[in-house]
Amino acid sequence: MTIPFLSFDVTNSLIEQEVFQCFAQFFRSKQYILGSKLQEFERSYSAYNEVASTVGVSNGLDALFLSMKIAGVEQGDEVIVPSNTYIATVLAVTYTGATPVFVEPDILTYNIDPTKIEAAITAKTKAIMPVHLYGQSCAMSDIMMVAEKYGLAVVEDNAQAHGARWKGQLTGSWGIANGTSFYPGKNLGAFGDAGAITTNDASLAARAKVLRNYGSQQKYYNEEIGFNMRMDELQAGMLLIKLKYISDWTRQRNQIALWYSEMLHTLADIQLPYTHEHATHVYHLFVIRTPKRDALQQFLSAKGIGTMIHYPVPPHLQNAYHFLGYQKGSFPIAEKLASTSLSLPIWPGMTKEQVDFIANQIRTFFKQND
Ligand SMILES: *Cc1c(COP(=O)(O)O)cnc(C)c1O
Repeated sequence: MTIPFLSFDVTNSLIEQEVFQCFAQFFRSKQYILGSKLQEFERSYSAYNEVASTVGVSNGLDALFLSMKIAGVEQGDEVIVPSNTYIATVLAVTYTGATPVFVEPDILTYNIDPTKIEAAITAKTKAIMPVHLYGQSCAMSDIMMVAEKYGLAVVEDNAQAHGARWKGQLTGSWGIANGTSFYPGKNLGAFGDAGAITTNDASLAARAKVLRNYGSQQKYYNEEIGFNMRMDELQAGMLLIKLKYISDWTRQRNQIALWYSEMLHTLADIQLPYTHEHATHVYHLFVIRTPKRDALQQFLSAKGIGTMIHYPVPPHLQNAYHFLGYQKGSFPIAEKLASTSLSLPIWPGMTKEQVDFIANQIRTFFKQND
């Protein structure tokens, strides 16, 4: 049996007819940029995410950058980000001219530890950017409390957690402006690059719409220095199709996670994902941890099982961020996660047989390597 880390086979074949129809309609519409599909997607996604406004943009990184910008983050500010995240979170801060300030995650949830945020706040701190890593909501009520106490903006990185909740409230609806990604491999993925800003502030949404389109509201009249960060009509059309299935696909991800946990919870050698009692998890990734990570990954690969490491190098140790002056040991929890985490296959359409096969191979590995 070979099991890829990620497969679109099942989800693609489910929507194939609708996608081909949509493409034909798009092709004949001759409306390729900023048309009615994008407007329809923005309305539908707002309903899904329970927010007042969605602004469709080019990708997740641009969504985060524009969110920071409309939240008022500027050159010279500091923005608090988790020390274990995908590089895009940190790049978005850098693009604004602000400095990223890292805060260690909780070792159980892998999300930013809200009790460690206060110590990182300085006179320059402007915002906190929590990342709902792997699909589990951060401790949003605790983060909002710290933000309110110090008058900071919250901008969520919701790229991995479409549909996740904290105390019943959806991720992407807490911050003043929040960014999400529809990169193909995300839980809600386009057929190319796409992203969105979600907000409950209509004036911020309006500013984001101006910024994404050359700083222009009326064609050839430019109010400010804007960007070309628009979402294509075609991607909006594709996302509208997938949006109808996302809740079912999230249920499937949870079922797969449950199967893994049932098969593996008695195995003392690995740390399984832990979901906080106030959080829900949409399992963008199913991440286990073991000090024997590299050997396990090789073993599974030899058995035909694809895995990935999210992420092998934390941002503070990336060459690109050498100038911040951190070194090995600066953020020991992030570094420990980077050296022990392994993401197992999880995608809608995966069968119990496939999960059992993977789990049994993991058990075999530890029997041989204990
Ligand atoms: C994917 C991702 C992004 C960036 O999204 P793109 O659409 O690839 O630009 C940002 N943050 C996190 C946590 C992500 O996983």
